[in-house]
Formats: sequence, C-alpha cells, structure tokens
Amino acid sequence: MICVSIAQKTQEEALAAIERSARVAKALELRMDVIGQGDLTELMEACRQASPDIKIIVTCRRPEESLLSVALSAGAARKTISQAEKMALFRQAATLGADFIDLELACGENAIKKMRAFIRRLKSPTKIIVSWHDLSRTPSLARLKSIFHLGQQTGADVVKIVPFARQPKDNLKTLGLLAYAKTQKIPLIAMCMGDEGKISRVLASFLGSYVTFATLPGVGQSAPGQLTVGAMKEIYRLMEKGESAARPELANPPQHNFVLLGNPVGHSLSPLMHNRALKELSIDGHYSACRVEDLSAAVTGIRGLNLRGASVTIPFKTAVMEYLDSIDEDAAALGAVNTIVNERGILTGYNTDWLGLILAVKDRMAIAGKTFVVLGAGGAARAAVYGLQKEGARVIIVNRTEKKGRALAVRFGCSFYPLSEVKKICADCLLNTTSAGMFPDIEQSPVPSSVLNHFEVVADVIYNPLQTRLLQEALAQGCQIISGLEMFVRQGAGQIKLWTGREAPLALMRKIIQERLENLEF
Ligand code: NAP
Repeated sequence: MICVSIAQKTQEEALAAIERSARVAKALELRMDVIGQGDLTELMEACRQASPDIKIIVTCRRPEESLLSVALSAGAARKTISQAEKMALFRQAATLGADFIDLELACGENAIKKMRAFIRRLKSPTKIIVSWHDLSRTPSLARLKSIFHLGQQTGADVVKIVPFARQPKDNLKTLGLLAYAKTQKIPLIAMCMGDEGKISRVLASFLGSYVTFATLPGVGQSAPGQLTVGAMKEIYRLMEKGESAARPELANPPQHNFVLLGNPVGHSLSPLMHNRALKELSIDGHYSACRVEDLSAAVTGIRGLNLRGASVTIPFKTAVMEYLDSIDEDAAALGAVNTIVNERGILTGYNTDWLGLILAVKDRMAIAGKTFVVLGAGGAARAAVYGLQKEGARVIIVNRTEKKGRALAVRFGCSFYPLSEVKKICADCLLNTTSAGMFPDIEQSPVPSSVLNHFEVVADVIYNPLQTRLLQEALAQGCQIISGLEMFVRQGAGQIKLWTGREAPLALMRKIIQERLENLEF
C-alpha cells in the first residue's frame, strides 16, 4: 500500500495536497505535528471526499523522531505539542473513525494501552501503529528485532520501524527484519530513511511491509529518501513484468514529435499552430492531438514512443503531475502542468499558461502595482493569479461558486467577491478566465455590460471566438481589450522554446490561428 504523507505547513496547503495525493495513493498520513492550525475534522473529511476508500493514518510525530521537525525547527515555525494534547488528538482521530493512529513506542506502554482501551470502548475501527525511528543510524538486526518485540508487547495492530541508512548494508538489516516479521503474527512497516535507504523503500513492499511511503512532485517529502509515487509505480511495473530495470536516462535522444494529451481534444487548434511553427523552424517532427482515456498509460507512451514532449490540457493539467519525474518550480507553485519535456526518458513538467498570459498583458499595460480582477477560479484563473502576483499586481478573485473562489483566494492570499457583487469593484483590468462566452455559447458573457466602465482594460483568455461578447461590450464602453488569442500563441511559443530551445515564429503562429478562427462559421 503506497502512502503519501500530508506534511504541509498550513491547512490550505494540506487540503490541496490531499486533493492531489488521494488520486494516486491508497493511504494518506496526516502529519498533525507539521500542519499549522491543522483542523483534523476538515482534513479527514477532505480525504474521504477526495477518495472514499482511502486509508487515513493520523500521526503526531515527536520532534526527536522526525527529520522534518528538525528541518522545521531550523526555520521559523514548529508546533509544540504536549503528550496530553497528542493523546487528545488521537482520541479525536479514533472518534472520527481514522483507519490508523501512529503512536511512538516512546509514548510508553501505559499510554498505548490506555489508547487501546479507549478505542475498544468507542467500538471504533481505528488500529494502532506503534512506531520507532532513529534519525541517525541503523542498529544491528538483533536490536531491531528486540524493538519489534517491544512494539508487539504494547498490543499494537501494526509495528513500524524506520532507522536511517548510512550505508547500503543498513538496508539489508531492515529488510532482514521484514523477513523475520513474516514469521510473527503482526504486520510490520519497515524501511530506511536517507538517500542510502531508497532501495529499502522500493523493496519493502515486496518483502511484506504493510505500507511504503512515497511523495508527489511539488508536494514535498516527509522524510529523506522518499521516491515519487510515479517512480515507485513505474519500478513495480517493471519488476512485475520481469523487465530489466533499464534506466530511462539510457534512452536515445527523442525525435521531435509531440502530442497533446487531453479529453476532448477534437476542437484544439494546437496541432495547426505547432505543426506550422515546426515547419517554419525546419524541424523534422510532428504534433498530434490524442484523446486520452488512461493518463498513466499515455505518459508511459511518451517514454515508449520517445517523443520530445507533450502539451497537457483539460482535464489533466493537475493529475498529470503525479506521473512525471520532476516539476519545474513555477508549475509546482501554481499546481498545474501544461507542458512536458522528455530528456532521454526523464519527463519534466512545466507551465507556460501563466507566462503566456503575463506576456500578452504586458504587451498592452504595466502589471506591477496595478489591480486586476480575475473572473473564475479554475485552472486558467490559477495561472493568471500566480503570474500576476509574481509580477507585483494586486489581485481580486471573483467567482460564481463562492466556495471555489474563496479557496483560491485563500491559497494565493487575495481578496474575494462573489460574482453577484462584481458591480461594487473598480480596478485597472478585468481578466476573464471563465469559459462563459466560449464557442458555442458565444452569446454568454460572465458579467453585465454595465460594470465594464469600472475597468480601463478588459482581457479574455477565450480565443474562440476571437472577440467574445465580453470584449465587444468592453470596446463599446471605451475600454482597451486583450484577446485570448495573444495568451494562446504565447503559451504555445513558450512550449516551442522548451522543446527545441528555439524562438518560436510568434507572428506566423498568431496569423495562422487568427485566419482559422475568422473562417470558422458560427
Ligand atoms: P475550469 O477549470 O473548468 O474553470 C472554469 C471556470 O469558469 C470556473 O471558475 C467556473 O465557475 C467558471 N464558469 C464557467 N461557466 C461560467 C458561467 N457561465 N458564468 C460564470 N462563470 C463560469 O476551466 P479552465 O481550465 O480554467 O479554462 C477556462 C477557460 O480558459 C476556457 O475557456 C479555456 O479554453 C480558456 N483557456 C485559454 C487559454 C489560452 O491559452 N488562451 C489557456 C487555458 C485556458 P464555477 O467555479 O462557478 O464553476
């Protein structure tokens, strides 16, 4: 069972990590010692909403047994939690029906037995993991066995033993313990921390470890040496198929072929734009759109076909992150990938949406110090807010669904207004990132025309039609306008640069798309 630790510093970040992690892991560990102001009820609800079958482990690690706590204490915030508070938290977890609570052996046999009695009285299904960690070394196998028996004696349902590997042979001791535990009648979780311990994380499942811990790109490790869920699954797949675990770095340099991964993709203008750009740059390659049913298999296909890269569109921009080997800093910060680059089998995710938008806006107005109203709270809004803030703008989010809008506003520290109150706002620029007005619903506009004179500039991310009803009404009110076409071609130019290292023929790309859209019949 692959488990991802949710060890973010704030409740909002933890909720976002839960949403991503629940799609790929079988279990989530809520690290209540790390999540600042962690509201366990809300976190557990979010886990179950994200995936009803997910197993929930509630942990409140004492600093002496957590390298993450050591790292945090070097920085600003570290939570101080007394033993009494910790036990109260575990009682709450059991009352809420957590699948597991993780108590350190160091809590003492009495405390563990009391917790066991509490759970029994409650008739809660919660099981107790009794854990032991050594942050600096791996003791002898004999010592590991005696720790295992101490855990067993507390009445634990599962014992967890995680030492730190300094040298490769430390893995053998820990894996040896797993083999030993098989002869006993109690499940064991065992692996080594640290870079030297990575191999134990991979092999632990094969040798019967009840759980193994992995991380997601951009989510962060809760202990050193954790591999990504994607890497772990790929290794399991190779091992199960009995293939040689050929290192992907050994793949040949990829051909300059590309795919668009999305669903649906039939309407996409990306193939037209990119194929013309490749031809103009005399690059012998092709770009095709693929309607994806199985995202994991599609990403494996990029490696298998040795493609140079891919674009990613709705609905996979966030989900794809789990399957990549690394994520660029901006893409990780905004939580979405629209571009994949294949460097000899190593897939890296980038996001050019935010940059495309910023370049399109910058062409027409200064951003720093200006106030932008971003309409919408989906993927395009996220890219817009991220880019605008990075450029020094003040952002106000306005959305139809209040909960979604507020969550995005909290995530980026902006103010929020419901769509019904947009008339109360004046700002430098109104930026529509909703799909209201997009073909075929071209008569729609996200806001009434009467509010448009509250803004100097009105921008739309929609590029089909070229001039949305919103932009037409804004022109009539005397506003300057920016069309979604500009963002579209610039995000595409950013992709060309990442894939080929060359400057894209921007004017040609704009002309091709503009001509196609002008000739479309509505
Ligand atoms: P998304 O994640 O599905 O989000 C859509 C947003 O639009 C949500 O906030 C939704 O509000 C809002 N919305 C939808 N219909 C609405 C209506 N009738 N009135 C008010 N709000 C409405 O989609 P996305 O990925 O952000 O994409 C949004 C648009 O951006 C699409 O048209 C897409 O083609 C375009 N886009 C353009 C580019 C480009 O390069 N130009 C790049 C990316 C995206 P609720 O929260 O209330 O549902």
